[in-house]
Amino acid sequence: MTGTAAQYDCVACGACCVNPDENRQEGYLWYLEVRDTPLLEKKDLRKKLVVLDPDGVPHLRLERETGRCVALRGKIGVRATCSIYTLRPKGCRLLMPGDPRCLLARKERGVDP
Ligand code: SF4
Ligand code: SF4
Repeated sequence: MTGTAAQYDCVACGACCVNPDENRQEGYLWYLEVRDTPLLEKKDLRKKLVVLDPDGVPHLRLERETGRCVALRGKIGVRATCSIYTLRPKGCRLLMPGDPRCLLARKERGVDP
């Protein structure tokens, strides 16, 4: 790992809110599981933002073309924010700036060279 978490500005990024390349290459259209969040209890938001995988497990809905989570607003690498920040699932909360998945996402989405 290079650098520290303080060097990675999530608001100017958003790269980890996109289905990773490896998932896409394997044809896997579900990225973050929706759990440990009150999101599932909000009927309207659940309908808009959550899809079930073939096993019936809830995941965040992704845009078909881009693989972006539909809750993401803005432009990746410029300014990107989560529209359900306080309701985001555990998987989103566990991802830390500067950790290996963050660095991979930033590279894949072109935020870092
Ligand atoms: S990839 Fe890293 S820096 Fe970018 S939003 Fe996610 S945690 Fe923050
Ligand atoms: S719920 Fe928010 S933090 Fe989680 S992937 Fe979607 S936009 Fe990103």
